[in-house]
Amino acid sequence: MTQTFDLLIIGGGAHGASLAFHLSARGVKVAVLEKSFIASGATGRSSGLVRMHYDLEAEARLAWESFQWFRDWKERVGPDPCGFTRTGFLQLVKREHVDALKANTHMLQRIGVPTMLVTAEDVKRLAPFLVTDDFDLAAYEPESGYADPVSTATSMMNAARARGAVFVQDCQVTGIRLKSGRVEGVDTSKGPYSAPIVVNAAGAWARQICALAGVDVPLGTWRHDVMFATRPPELRLPHPTVIDFPNSMYFRPEGGLTLVGLEDGNPLDEDPDGDSDHARAGFVDRAIDRLCRRVPLMERGGLHSAHGGYDGITPDQHPALGPIGPEGFWLDCGFSGTGFKISPAVGLCMSEWILDGAPKTVDISIFTPTRFVDGKHLVSEHPYESIWR
Ligand SMILES: Cc1cc2nc3c(=O)[nH]c(=O)nc-3n(C[C@H](O)[C@H](O)[C@H](O)COP(=O)(O)OP(=O)(O)OC[C@H]3O[C@@H](n4cnc5c(N)ncnc54)[C@H](O)[C@@H]3O)c2cc1C
Repeated sequence: MTQTFDLLIIGGGAHGASLAFHLSARGVKVAVLEKSFIASGATGRSSGLVRMHYDLEAEARLAWESFQWFRDWKERVGPDPCGFTRTGFLQLVKREHVDALKANTHMLQRIGVPTMLVTAEDVKRLAPFLVTDDFDLAAYEPESGYADPVSTATSMMNAARARGAVFVQDCQVTGIRLKSGRVEGVDTSKGPYSAPIVVNAAGAWARQICALAGVDVPLGTWRHDVMFATRPPELRLPHPTVIDFPNSMYFRPEGGLTLVGLEDGNPLDEDPDGDSDHARAGFVDRAIDRLCRRVPLMERGGLHSAHGGYDGITPDQHPALGPIGPEGFWLDCGFSGTGFKISPAVGLCMSEWILDGAPKTVDISIFTPTRFVDGKHLVSEHPYESIWR
């Protein structure tokens, strides 16, 4: 028997859960269809960094709005925690990018983000164990840190369910039903569901879902490995979260462990169902080498574990948000390796766009997927060289 809803969301990651939360808050009858279990995709593998330092203003605004959700989670979402942990955040850049760092920090301050420029000497005072001889200035966000992505998605989904949303696990979407150029529902491994609006929040699988709707958007996949290292006794205390451009790396504390990811060597367009339980050969050696360059004391640390994950990526490495193709078909995907921290605000803005005809909290219409059809890629005013968490 066909089950009928106002709106169907494909994918139960951070973004599907956030959209379900915000839509159900406005009385929309939503079902989230998930082929596996909650946060089983990129969300469950995410490093969970929550910082605001972006070089594109719209993304910075999404991160700033989202930060306030993470900080005030209990009042805004409900009793289930998101695991937000304040560590302070340092953005390190190469000397040649210091002008971009200054311009981006000023942009962030203009929109209200608590951030400041600090000298290498200041960084040494904040974190004496860091090597600071390869940069002069850094950006510091005293309130930033990280959250637990699985708890975040679960908390939002639980709050959505409390308002009537339905979450269906082990439910693979196998077809999109179309009639006269508009969406009518989906076919799944658990039978048909009908709704006039279908949102593709399928992460690294989003291109496959687009194909079911006859929509061709250049969505690829991005593979990323991370490592957890044990800290030696001298480094027992938690340390700031750091994005380290000069070493193409980021790291943050996780209890007595330090999580490390590398920005380079992340393969594109692999099968998103590839092995993500193990890091690729060579990754751990490279990660240890980079971490020890910035934190030499970590030479006395140890390897705890390593794994990988897949996210969706777009050609300009910014999200694909908005309607495209048959009427009623929307994209909420393409987060290009940095989507967790903006998930609370993206869900809010998408709900405004769908229900009110335009996003209000942050103007996310620049992320329209039609920009790829029109060949108009998003470019930052003061870019750094790569994509970051
Ligand atoms: C290792 C790693 C580290 C990261 N670190 C950070 C970080 O520190 N900070 C940050 O902001 N971002 C980070 N990211 C990026 C961030 O995790 C993602 O952008 C974000 O989690 C994407 O959420 P999502 O809901 O769009 O996708 P996902 O979490 O991938 O959810 C998509 C869901 O769709 C489901 N699905 C797919 N096909 C179907 C189908 N046919 N039918 C039904 N369901 C389907 C999948 O099973 C999956 O659960 C990282 C990503 C990775 C991989």
